Amino acid sequence: MAEQQAPVGYDDTPMLPGQPYRVHDSKRSAPRVVTPGAGYGDAPSDAVVLFDGSDLSNWQGRDGDAQWKVENGYMEVTPKTGDIQTKEGFGSIQLHLEFACPAEVKGNSQGRGNSGVFLLGGYEVQVLDGYDNPTYADGITGAIYGQFPPLVNATRPPGEWQSYDIIFEAPVYEGETLKSPAYLTVILNGILLHNRKEAMGPTGHKNLSSYDTVHGPTGPLKLQDHGDLVRYRNIWIRNLTDYDAS
Ligand code: MG
Repeated sequence: MAEQQAPVGYDDTPMLPGQPYRVHDSKRSAPRVVTPGAGYGDAPSDAVVLFDGSDLSNWQGRDGDAQWKVENGYMEVTPKTGDIQTKEGFGSIQLHLEFACPAEVKGNSQGRGNSGVFLLGGYEVQVLDGYDNPTYADGITGAIYGQFPPLVNATRPPGEWQSYDIIFEAPVYEGETLKSPAYLTVILNGILLHNRKEAMGPTGHKNLSSYDTVHGPTGPLKLQDHGDLVRYRNIWIRNLTDYDAS
C-alpha cells in the first residue's frame, strides 16, 4: 500500500507581506544544516573556533604575540601583559565563551575578578567576580559596561566555570551617519541578561558613550587584562553575516 506523502510546500497560499515568498512556500530554500556540538557549549559545525584550549595562535597582544598563560585547556590573564584580541575582525556574531574568576577571593567591587569581553573591539560585556560583591550596577557581571546593568545577577561562585552566549549585531554607518546602532543579547549560565539591548555606542569608563566616532563594520574580539587572574576557555563564534535572515 502506498504511503501517503505529506506536502513539503504550497504554491497557492497568500504572499507574505514584504517577502518574495508565499506562506509555506515550496520554492523557499531550506535552512542550511548545522550540526550541533555533542554537549552544551560545544562548537557547532559552522563555528570559527578562536580558542580550543591548546594555543593562542588566533590572538595577538599589545606588542605582537599574545602573552597570556595557556595550561590545562584554558588561558589565563597574565597581568600587565595587556589585553589580547583576535587577529581576525568580525561584525555581527554569535559568541560562546567560558570564563572563571579566581577561586581565591581578593579585592572588592571592580577590583575582584575583573576582565571583559569586547565585541567589535569596543563594546564591553563585563566579566567580574560578581558573586556577593557589591559594585555599581552597570559594572556587575554581564553589564553592558557603563550603560546597562544585566536583568539579573546570574553569577556562579568564584572559581567555577561560567558561560557567556552573546549575540552581537554590529552597528551600521552610512558615511558619518549612524544608520543602525549595535544590539546585544547576552545569556550568562543559560540565563538571559540582555534581550537585544540597544547599545549607546562603544563602552567607556566614567564617560558617556556615543556613536560620534565612526568605526569600521568589523573589529576584533578583545579580552581585557584588568590585572586579575581570570581564565577563559572554549571560545567560538558564528559569523551572522553569513546568513540571510530575509
Ligand atoms: Mg572589565
